[in-house]
Order: sequence, then C-alpha cells, then structure tokens
Amino acid sequence: MLEITKESIEKAIAKARITKPKVKVIQFRLYSVTNKTTGANYEVKFYKISGKKFAECDCKATKICYHIGASIGAHIVLAEQMSRQTV
Ligand SMILES: [Zn+2]
Repeated sequence: MLEITKESIEKAIAKARITKPKVKVIQFRLYSVTNKTTGANYEVKFYKISGKKFAECDCKATKICYHIGASIGAHIVLAEQMSRQTV
C-alpha cells in the first residue's frame, strides 16, 4: 500500500495523460485500469486511513504508478457524489 502525496500523484496523473489507459469503475474505491496498447489490466484500490490517502495497484510498480494516476480522477468524482448523497 502506497501513500498518495501531492507530488507523487501529480507525476502519476501526468504519465496517465500521456498513456491514456482505460479506467472502469468496479465499485467505489476499486477500479480496473487497462493499457490500450498492450491490453494489460490492473486493479487499483484506494484507502483512507486516519485522514491519509493510500492506493494499491497490482502492477509491479513500487511507487504511485500511472494506473493510480488514471483512476484517481474517477475516484474523486465518485467520492464527491457519495459525500453529497450523505449530506
Ligand atoms: Zn500500477
């Protein structure tokens, strides 16, 4: 599990903008990311633990990867929708 920092996620989002993988929502906090070129598919999970944000991807990367960068956009939109519903 990797902690999401502003710097690490900005790099990952920048890389995701170039590679443009396909993101599919499996459920809230769980996303499927597919590389359009290779067809490789990875699962990304998001966690929130005592105010800190964490992510996990099943690819080989040992830091915040572009799969996480690609899915965080969908995650933020969903998280906002969920928080609006509970208000
Ligand atoms: Zn990854």
